[in-house]
Amino acid sequence: MDEMFPFSEAPDTAVFTCCHVLSGERPVLYVSHDEDGYWQFLCGEDHEESDAKLVSLHSIYLLDNSLGQLAELECCHSAERDSADDEWKFW
Ligand SMILES: [Zn+2]
Repeated sequence: MDEMFPFSEAPDTAVFTCCHVLSGERPVLYVSHDEDGYWQFLCGEDHEESDAKLVSLHSIYLLDNSLGQLAELECCHSAERDSADDEWKFW
């Protein structure tokens, strides 16, 4: 296991993302840690159900290392930012 990996979950934990983030079309601007423990890393736009993709937590982290700042985000909380260069705002 990568000792630099900031999340307490295992790197191969399945998380939700959207096709836009996965394709590199848009950055992750909305992150939710749901009450059932699932993480969502989305672009912040509206989505159809078919836009949802399941990937590993590690692959999302590799895509954008700044997501490591959200490793402490507790269940039932979410974070947003206006662009990839902005600070995260926590809810
Ligand atoms: Zn999207």
